[in-house]
Amino acid sequence: MTDTMIIRTEDLTKAYGTKTAVNHLSLEIRRGEIFGLLGPNGAGKTTTILMLLGLTEPTQGKALIDGYDCTRQSMQVKRITGYMPDNVGFYSDMTGRENLRFTARLNGIPEKEIDPLIDRLIEKVGMTYAANQKTGTYSKGMRQRLGIADVLIKDPAVIIMDEPTAGLDPEGMREFLSLIKQLSVEDGKTILVSSHQLYQIQQICDRVGIFVGGSLIACGGIG
Ligand code: ATP
Repeated sequence: MTDTMIIRTEDLTKAYGTKTAVNHLSLEIRRGEIFGLLGPNGAGKTTTILMLLGLTEPTQGKALIDGYDCTRQSMQVKRITGYMPDNVGFYSDMTGRENLRFTARLNGIPEKEIDPLIDRLIEKVGMTYAANQKTGTYSKGMRQRLGIADVLIKDPAVIIMDEPTAGLDPEGMREFLSLIKQLSVEDGKTILVSSHQLYQIQQICDRVGIFVGGSLIACGGIG
C-alpha cells in the first residue's frame, strides 16, 4: 500500500555546536500537497531542506521521503526528489535549451528522447520564446521558470524549493506561483517550498508550517 504521507520527519534535530538550528521537528507532508515552510531568516528552513536531501546529517531523529531514509538511502531519495536552490545556477554562455540538454544527459535520459522532452518542459514553464537565448541574458523570473523545467527533467515525485520567490517582481511572482500550483494540481507533484514571504506563498499552499528559532510553532491549513 502506498503511504499517503510522502515526507516525514521524526524528531529531526540539527545542532551546530551549541546552536540548535532545527529543534525536534516532526512533520508529515501528503502526496500531491504544496507545503510552505515559512519563517524568518535563520529559522532553520535551509538546514531542514539539507537534511531532507541527505546533504547534512541530523544530530538526532530522522527524515524519510517515500519511505527512504534521507541520510542512509540518499541515492534513492535523490532519484525521486528534485531540488531547486534559491539561486539556480546555469551556464550563462549556453542557451536555455542547451542547459536543459546538459541536465538531461547528466540524468541519463536517452539521446533521442531529450529534444522532445525539453520542448515539452520549456512549453510547460512558458519559456519557448526564450529557449534559444543565452541564460546570461535571462531575468530572475525567467531563470526561475527554467529552473523548474530543469528540476522536472527527471520527473521527480517531490520538488523542494528554497526561497524560490526571492527577488521576483510582482508579475514574475504571479507567474511563478501559478506554475507551482499547476505542478501540484495537474501533475500530482508534492512540493515543499521554503520562504520568508508568508503572504505570497500562503496563497498557493495547502498547508504551511511556521518555523521560528528552529522550532515549528504552528502548522496547518490556510483558514
Ligand atoms: P535563511 O533564509 O537566512 O537561509 P533559514 O531559515 O534557512 O534562514 P538556516 O540557514 O537553516 O535558516 O539557519 C538556521 C541557523 O543555523 C542559523 O542561526 C544559522 O546561523 C545556523 N547555521 C546554519 N548553517 C550553519 C553552519 N554550517 N554552521 C553553523 N551554524 C549554522
